[in-house]
Amino acid sequence: MTASYEYETHDYDVVVVGAGGAGLRATLGMAEQGLRTACVTKVFPTRSHTVAAQGGIAASLGNMGPDSWQWHMYDTVKGSDWLGDTDAMEYLAREAPKAVYELEHYGVPFSRTEEGKIYQRPFGGHTTEFGEGPPVQRTCAAADRTGHAILHTLYGQSLKNNAEFYIEYFAIDLIMSEDGQCQGVVCWKLDDGTMHVFNAKMVVLATGGYGRAYFSATSAHTCTGDGGGMVARAGLALQDMEFVQFHPTGIYGSGCLITEGARGEGGYLTNSEGERFMERYAPNYKDLAPRDYVSRSMTMEIREGRGVGEHGDHIHLNLSHLPPEALAERLPGISESAKIFAGVDVTKEPIPVLPTVHYNMGGIPTNYWGEVLNPTKDDPTAIVPGLMAAGEAGCASVHGANRLGSNSLIDLVVFGRAASIRAGQVVDKDAPNPTLNQASVDKAFERFDSLRHAKGGIPTADLRLEMQRTMQADAAVFRTDKTLKEGVEKMTAIAGKMGDLKVTDRSLVWNSDLMETLELDNLMPNALATIVGAEARKESRGAHAHEDYAERDDENWRVHTVAHVEGSKVDLSFRPVITDPLTTEAEGGISLKTIAPKARTF
Ligand SMILES: Cc1cc2nc3c(=O)[nH]c(=O)nc-3n(C[C@H](O)[C@H](O)[C@H](O)COP(=O)(O)OP(=O)(O)OC[C@H]3O[C@@H](n4cnc5c(N)ncnc54)[C@H](O)[C@@H]3O)c2cc1C
Repeated sequence: MTASYEYETHDYDVVVVGAGGAGLRATLGMAEQGLRTACVTKVFPTRSHTVAAQGGIAASLGNMGPDSWQWHMYDTVKGSDWLGDTDAMEYLAREAPKAVYELEHYGVPFSRTEEGKIYQRPFGGHTTEFGEGPPVQRTCAAADRTGHAILHTLYGQSLKNNAEFYIEYFAIDLIMSEDGQCQGVVCWKLDDGTMHVFNAKMVVLATGGYGRAYFSATSAHTCTGDGGGMVARAGLALQDMEFVQFHPTGIYGSGCLITEGARGEGGYLTNSEGERFMERYAPNYKDLAPRDYVSRSMTMEIREGRGVGEHGDHIHLNLSHLPPEALAERLPGISESAKIFAGVDVTKEPIPVLPTVHYNMGGIPTNYWGEVLNPTKDDPTAIVPGLMAAGEAGCASVHGANRLGSNSLIDLVVFGRAASIRAGQVVDKDAPNPTLNQASVDKAFERFDSLRHAKGGIPTADLRLEMQRTMQADAAVFRTDKTLKEGVEKMTAIAGKMGDLKVTDRSLVWNSDLMETLELDNLMPNALATIVGAEARKESRGAHAHEDYAERDDENWRVHTVAHVEGSKVDLSFRPVITDPLTTEAEGGISLKTIAPKARTF
C-alpha cells in the first residue's frame, strides 16, 4: 500500500528538531552565524523538559573556593566509571565556564553571592584536587529553577537572531539519501493536520531522553526518545543504552523530582532507625556520593528491612534542620512540590523518597562536535553526513556509565554550541539544498499511515503500560542474569505486538491517540536496546549494577555497546572507548596517569 499525503516543502540550511536546552542553544548558535535555521518542536519551546531542571549547571568558575576545569574533568571521568570518551569529557569541562558566562551575558538570572558573582552549590561527586580534596561548590544555580531560567533566555535570544520556529510540529522520520546522507525530516503539524517536509543541509536531533520507557520517571510525558526511534529506523546506531540513571530522590508515589541540590544545601537521608546510613556506605562523600551509589545504598537499606513507611518501602529525606529562610531562598520550588505531591511541610517533616528513573546516559553516538557516528569495525568514528545530535538524545559520550548531577545542563549548552560551531565550518550557505530522496519521504508517510489506520486488538496505552512495567521490573537499579534474560524475552514479545495495535481516532487534527502511538513506536527501540545491552554486559559499572557480576571488568567491558534495532530484533556490537584527552599534560591538560582507571570509592 502506498499512502499519499500532500505536503509543503521548506528549505533551510539547518533544521534543529527539539527546543529544549540543547535544541535552543544549537538553534541560537546556528542563527548567530547567519545560517538559515528552523527549529521544529512538538511542544512549545519553554514547555520542553529542560524547564523542570532544578538544581543547576556545572562549571568550574571557582566563585565559592578554588576550582579548575581539570578537577571537573577528573570528576566526570570518575563519575562515568571510565566509560566516557576522554576527548569529549575534556571538551565539556574546558568549555563549561565559557558556556556559562555566555548564558549570563544572554541574560540568565543566576542567583548571586554577596559580591555579585554567580552563586554555586555543591553537587554529588564534584570535588577538588582530583578527588583527594574536599567537595567543591561547582553547580551554578538560579534558585531551584535553573532550567526554567536557561530555557526562557535561550528562546528569547533565538527569536532575536531570527531563527524560525515551527511549534507543535511532530517530526516523524529522517529523510536519508541512498548513500546514507541525512537530507531533512518529515513532520506532521499537530493543530491542523498538514504535512511538512523540511529539506536541509544539516539536521540536528535534540529530542531529549526516553524516561517514559519506564513506569516511574521524573521526566515529562513527552520524553519518548523520538530521535532514537528515528535513528534506529534509518538503520543507524544507539550507544550505551543499558545505562539508565535512577535519581535517589523521586517523591514516593508520584516520582516527582526533589533536586540533589536539596542534599547540596545540607539535606540528608535516613532509614527507619533514623540512621544517616550514607555515612556507612560513603564515609567521605556521604549523602553527596554520586547518584548510582546513593540509589543502590537506598535500595539495599530497603531490602534489608530498614525502609520507612507502612510497607517499609522508601526512605526519608530530611530538610527540617535547615533554616526556613534558606529553604525559602534556595529551594522554594521543591518545598512547594513536597507539599503538593507528598503533603509534607519541609520545615517540619521529612520527605518520603525513592530512586526513580531520571536520565539516559545512552543515546545517539556523536563525536564532541555533535556529528552523529555510524561506527563500523574498521572506522569506529565514521560520521553520518548531514546529521548531528545533542543533549540527552545524544551520547557524546561524556556521562559514560553514570552522569554527575548538573553535568547535563552543561552538556546541553556546551554541545549545542559545539554543533553550531561545527555547522558553521561544514555547511556551505551558498550551496543548493540536497535533492530529496523521494523513496525515503514516501516510506515515512507509509509508516505514519499504517499506524494511523492500525486496527489490531491492543490499544496503545495498554501496550505502553506492558512495556513500562517490564522495564521497571527487569531493567531496574539492581539487575541479575535471570531478570535480564526474562526481561529480554518479555520485551521482544511486547515489541512483536506493535503490529497488533489499535488506533481508534483516524483524524489528523489534534489526534493524541495517533501521536502517542508514534511515540510508542519510538520508545520501543530505545527500550529494547536498553534491556538487550544490559543483558549482554557481564560486569557492574556505574548505573549498571549486575548482581551476578559485581565487579567492573575493564579488560573485557571498557567498551561502548552499539545497538542496531530492527523491529523486535537488536543487533549488538561494540566500539572502543576513546582514552586520549585533547591536550597533553605539557599543554596544560590532565595527565594520563591521573585519569587511569582505578577502583571507584567514595
Ligand atoms: C525533573 C528534572 C530535573 C532535572 N534537573 C537537572 C539539573 O538541575 N541539572 C542538570 O544538569 N540536569 C538536570 N536534569 C536533566 C536535564 O534537565 C535533561 O537531561 C535535559 O534538560 C534534556 O534537555 P534536552 O534539550 O536534551 O531535551 P528536552 O528538554 O527534553 O527537550 C526535547 C525537545 O525535543 C522536542 N521533541 C521531541 N520529540 C520530538 C518530535 N518527534 N518532533 C518534534 N519535536 C520533538 C520537544 O518538543 C522538546 O522541545 C533534570 C531532569 C529532570 C527530568
